[in-house]
Amino acid sequence: MTMGTFASLTVVATGHASLDDPADTARRVFDALNSALSAYLPDSDIARLNRAGTNTVTLGPAARAVIEVCREYHALSHGAFDPTVMPLVRLWGFSGAPAPRNLPTPDAIADARARTGLAHLEVIGTDARFDRDGMSIDLGGIAKGYAVDRVYEELLRAAAPPPILINLGGNIRCHGARGKRHAWRIGVRNPFDHEAIVGVLELPDGMATATSGNYERFVTIDGKRYSHIIDPTTGFPSTGMAGVTVLSVTATEADALSTSLFIAGPEAGARMLADRPRCGAIFIPDRQPIELWITPAFDRRFTPAPALASHLHPIR
Ligand code: AMP
Ligand code: MG
Repeated sequence: MTMGTFASLTVVATGHASLDDPADTARRVFDALNSALSAYLPDSDIARLNRAGTNTVTLGPAARAVIEVCREYHALSHGAFDPTVMPLVRLWGFSGAPAPRNLPTPDAIADARARTGLAHLEVIGTDARFDRDGMSIDLGGIAKGYAVDRVYEELLRAAAPPPILINLGGNIRCHGARGKRHAWRIGVRNPFDHEAIVGVLELPDGMATATSGNYERFVTIDGKRYSHIIDPTTGFPSTGMAGVTVLSVTATEADALSTSLFIAGPEAGARMLADRPRCGAIFIPDRQPIELWITPAFDRRFTPAPALASHLHPIR
């Protein structure tokens, strides 16, 4: 357990001895990043920033690096990806806040929305501060992917690294192949049936995948489900998608994009991928019968479950 989820490491090797080192390395890197980035640990850089109001806080290299990457995906997603949505996330009962019994009022939503916006976070050198009161940041949409990349880099410093699959709560990156003639293969979960997959994604050497789903964490108000991903423009939990899985060249990008594309949906989402030829996605709308909207780069690596082959919708 680390970063609030399960981590696992799969190593193709022939003896026990060769397995201990990668596991220790992964544990060390994940735990160090959790200590710096967790909004829950009171001594983390992020928790200190969230308590500081508009005072200046000194950030370590990991927090600064992740915030910088956030700005990139904030811009790419036209603001959909915004880690300062924390006040809204909490208003809707996530990130440790109690689940609301009624829908938040328009005033409460407007108030929380006024305290969001990545532009209100200044970082100069090692100094960070919010230029507005009541703000806070939550790296839950990107930190796991970032951590997987740091473990990946650390493990690849070995002289002849064995084939490896790193998985932190569905944020996955691989090195090499599972076997001489087989790429690593990842089952893409069916958002409507936890026991089933919609198909299998082949993960080429060095590449990464991540999934955002409305079934992972949600609150129920008046019998309706609300997901943990907030659309910053409405202040409401994002609706429309049940699950989005991304294929990308880094786990950081896969993680940031899966959250962004979950909000954007297939059309706007596919446009965000236009300059990224190796990057693709599958979008599963939150409606029945199931539809699998798939971009070309994802399609090339994806084998649908036989029963769902006729539900594929290529996005051109
Ligand atoms: P993921 O499972 O990677 O899609 O990340 C979801 C988590 O990201 C949520 O639990 C929140 O902590 C955070 N989050 C929610 N909405 C947003 C958003 N619009 N932009 C960035 N992070 C978000
Ligand atoms: Mg994400």
